[in-house]
Amino acid sequence: MRIDIITLFPEMCEAVLSESIIGRARKSGAVEIECHQLRDFAFDKHRRVDDAPYGGGMGMLMMAEPIALCFEDICEKTNSRPHFIYMSPQGKTLTQQRLKELAALDNVCILCGHYEGVDERLIEEYIDEEISIGNYVLTGGELPALVLADSLARMIPGVLSDNECFEQESHYNSLLEYPQYTRPSVWRGKKVPPVLMSGHHKNVENFRREQSVIRTAKKRPELLENAELTDKERKLAESVIFTEYKK
Ligand code: SAM
Repeated sequence: MRIDIITLFPEMCEAVLSESIIGRARKSGAVEIECHQLRDFAFDKHRRVDDAPYGGGMGMLMMAEPIALCFEDICEKTNSRPHFIYMSPQGKTLTQQRLKELAALDNVCILCGHYEGVDERLIEEYIDEEISIGNYVLTGGELPALVLADSLARMIPGVLSDNECFEQESHYNSLLEYPQYTRPSVWRGKKVPPVLMSGHHKNVENFRREQSVIRTAKKRPELLENAELTDKERKLAESVIFTEYKK
């Protein structure tokens, strides 16, 4: 997969995306990520990409044309028409389910907004999808874009050591991940559940599955609506919810 990011702060994005797992995945070629300086597509000598909104009001708006030119340049260079995403507090909130779908695409381009946002005509003309990372407002789209790029990249085969790494994790199947423990086996008097040290793989698997159901019922019962549970697991979840909400 290739991810292009259109931003006023490519160094900020590069600083994050060059490190750790994503940095290594880029070096190995498992994922291609390129950050583009939007000002390179400005058309005045001051490299301005914003202007005052018609009708007045606070703040500035990002102009449509530099963004359009930058996106068209990416299309030309990649010989593709990437799925164009605008990070926006007005978009649908990002979910693991949506990430699964996006991870199947070959090319994604992410636009980081700034100031009061972007000229509406650019959104109408070019943007395929607006994505929010939550019901709050940040100063710019770089942090949201990094959240999307990171969470997307780690689902691409070859980025993590094994797909199981994310398939077992919270939200993948609408369940939260089971509790985990490492050495020492007794820490400040608290013991690791013995089944995890039994070496009995099937029992470990059953224990983890049950714990996932229990903690989802306790912490995020609304997720269970979309989870695939057996009758036994559904009854277990209902009894946990009943006990939690009786308190
Ligand atoms: N005036 C806009 C509004 O009320 O909808 C908010 C603009 S915000 C100050 C500047 C930029 O930050 C946005 O264009 C967007 O790219 C990004 N941004 C802020 N909050 C976000 C969120 N929750 N999710 C995704 N992007 C966000």
